[in-house]
Parts: sequence; C-alpha cells; structure tokens
Amino acid sequence: MDNFTLRDGTLHAEDVSLPAIADAVGTPVYVYSTATLERHVHVFRDAVAGLGKGEPLVAFAVKANPNKAVLATLARAGMGADVVSGGELYRALDAGMDPNKVVFSGVGKTADEMAQALNAGIGQFNIESEPELDMLSAVATRLGKVAQIAIRVNPDVIAGTHAKISTGGKENKFGIDYHAAPAAYAHAASLPGIRVRGVAVHIGSQLTDLLPLEAAFGRVGALIRDLRAAGHDITHADLGGGLGVPYDPARPLPPSPAEYGAMVARATAGWDARLMFEPGRLIVANAGVLVSRVIRVKQGATAPFVVVDAAMNDLLRPSLYDAYHDIRAVTPTGERAVTNIVGPVCETGDTFALGREMDVVAADDLVAFMTAGAYGATMASTYNSRALVPEVLVAGDRFAVVRERPPIEALAQADRLPPWL
Ligand SMILES: *Cc1c(COP(=O)(O)O)cnc(C)c1O
Repeated sequence: MDNFTLRDGTLHAEDVSLPAIADAVGTPVYVYSTATLERHVHVFRDAVAGLGKGEPLVAFAVKANPNKAVLATLARAGMGADVVSGGELYRALDAGMDPNKVVFSGVGKTADEMAQALNAGIGQFNIESEPELDMLSAVATRLGKVAQIAIRVNPDVIAGTHAKISTGGKENKFGIDYHAAPAAYAHAASLPGIRVRGVAVHIGSQLTDLLPLEAAFGRVGALIRDLRAAGHDITHADLGGGLGVPYDPARPLPPSPAEYGAMVARATAGWDARLMFEPGRLIVANAGVLVSRVIRVKQGATAPFVVVDAAMNDLLRPSLYDAYHDIRAVTPTGERAVTNIVGPVCETGDTFALGREMDVVAADDLVAFMTAGAYGATMASTYNSRALVPEVLVAGDRFAVVRERPPIEALAQADRLPPWL
C-alpha cells in the first residue's frame, strides 16, 4: 500500500501532484511519501508486536535509504538503525536515532569505526568473524568500554533471491558458519571488553518465500539452546531483514508483514529472548518514486526507445540486478504500447525495461518509476558527469527538497590539478 495515486488523471504523492514537484525541482527527482513511511513502520511493528520477550527492537537498515529526512521520520516513529559503516552511523545519529537502538553490521568494520561506535554508545555489534571479535575486544579495552555483541551466523540456507543479494549460503562472505559458532562464542566469552548477548542472522534481500527464513530461524533457535546450555547469557535474537516487496504488478504478492509475523511467532516460540529486526526495503521501497521526463522517442528495430532523463546512475537496480520497476505515465491517456525505456548514459546496461507494455508517452511527458524508495538514491553516482539526483519529501499537501541537486560545477571543482599541470 502506498500514497501515490491518480487524482483527476495525474499521479500524486499524497496531496501533491508530481508535475508540481517536477516543475519546482526539475527532473529526475526522487519523491518520498511521509504517510507511506509511517504506515510501513506501523504495519511492521503491528506484525511483530508481542513476539519475544519485551518490545521487539526494529532497526531500519540505513543502507536502503540514508536520507536525513527519511531517517528523522523513521526515528520519530520509534525506529532504530542497522548501520554498516561509520558514515551510516554518523548519519543515523545526526538524524536523531537513539544510539541504544543502533546495531552495527558488516564484515569489514575498521578499528576506527569500532571506536566511533563505542564512543557513541551503540546498542549492539553484529560480529562476522573471530578476527573481528579480537579487534573489537582490543578497541573496547583501550577505550575502557564494553561492547555488547551478537554473532551473525551463516545458517547455510538458499534464500531463493537474486544471487547478488543472497547472503546466507555457506559460500557467501557473511557471518560465521553455524557449525563453527559455538567455538566463536566460547572465544568471545573469554575476551575482555566484550559482552555476549545475542545471535544474529540475515540471509538476503527481496525474499519472496518465507521457508528459507523459517529454516534459518530454526537453526538460530537450536543454536540459542546450545549456547545457553554452554553457559552463555543469550538475551537477544536479531532476525535481520530481507522481506520482499511487490515490484511487478503481474507477479504474485510477496508474503505480507502479518504472514511474516505469524511465521516468526511459530519459529521463535519458547526462545525467551528479545527479538530484533532489520527491515530496509520493506519500510522505504514503496514510499518512493523516481520522476523522470521523456527527452525524446527514438525509432527502434522492434519497439520505440523512450529516452528518459533518468539513467542507471540515478537508479542502478535494473542494470545491477535485472530488477523490475513498474514505469507509469504521470498523466496516463489510457493508451498502452510496447516500448523500451532507456536512459541517456552511454552503456547498453542503461536500460530500464525492454519490450515492456506500458502507458504511451511522448517527448516532455513525465514518467514515474514506482517502488524506488529503497536502494535508489543511495546507490546513485555521477557517472557520465551527471549531477546527483535530488530528493523530495512530501507530507500531506506540503513538500520539501531534502537533498539538493548539486550544481555540475561542484563536480568539476572537487577535482584538483597537480602542481605540474
Ligand atoms: C541489507 C541488510 C538488511 C536489510 O535488508 P532488506 O532486504 O532491505 O530488508 C538488514 N540487515 C543486514 C545485515 C543487511 O545487510
């Protein structure tokens, strides 16, 4: 469910028409809906309410959308943050996230990042290897702090999603093999500056089947029992993120948050631990669209090429993962045709859709790439010396630019000539 709807024949974000935003800010531009963001937080929270011991902690995966206004909206709705770099940690705290509700994930945390997080007093480090444990122990001891940790276990399940966003197979770089986990916990318990509190798992993104998640949680449950039997005080279980969202209206709907919650209730019955979740895409994907203007329509061998002013540098998912985005005319006529939608970048991969039946559009018309709020603007680059795409947040009948389009001169001015030129 989202708040992008046709009103009097024009696509709106809540009460603001997308052409009004395009006229004010230019295109391409990302547009986010506050009402959709808040709705998703509440739907997810309702789905997991009452599960586990105490209120579940829901930590938004910042990498899905690190815009300060988005993070501040989510912080105000009570969410914490799952961060994977010092930069994300900085942005989460800067946006008002409670440090206690911050989880630090990722295989490559540096000593500097660990110190930054310990000094900020974050709630939990999710540890992905024994060398990382040793480094964290050394940094915490040096600072006179204690790091609360969970170990991210690799449950070796096939997530059934795109290979580039699968993380829970034993061949993936993530987590510690669940067979090796008891030894890693024993090692952790022996280290100064470390307090073991939980088990973490995250098997991939855009999951459209609950079975791999349930299998992974089953392994976590067995591990929690073994760890407790070995004397570890396991009080937290972090079940990660990964629940998929609908991208293609022709495909079956992914499991709903309520179905996910029911599965979690089954899988975690009797765990007697506080549950933590790290949804990213689920919270922000449908809360954002990328609005773009048609530059021109060019004859193609089989179907016309609609050349839009957004490109792979603004929305990378189609070229990176063959991802599908529904593409709609902002002012549809009702006429449909088979088209290819491409951007202006000089790469064949700069293709958003091939042979797609969609609304007929002409030069100067606006199109909206739907479900673009997650892994959209955050992956943007300036490839082809294109300015970074701006972002707008809508709330009711108001909108604000929450990230400006930098002038192209700023790109050039960031470069320096060496003294010999
Ligand atoms: C990316 C990531 C998430 C969020 O994944 P979504 O599919 O966006 O829900 C959660 N936890 C970790 C550790 C991640 O790397």
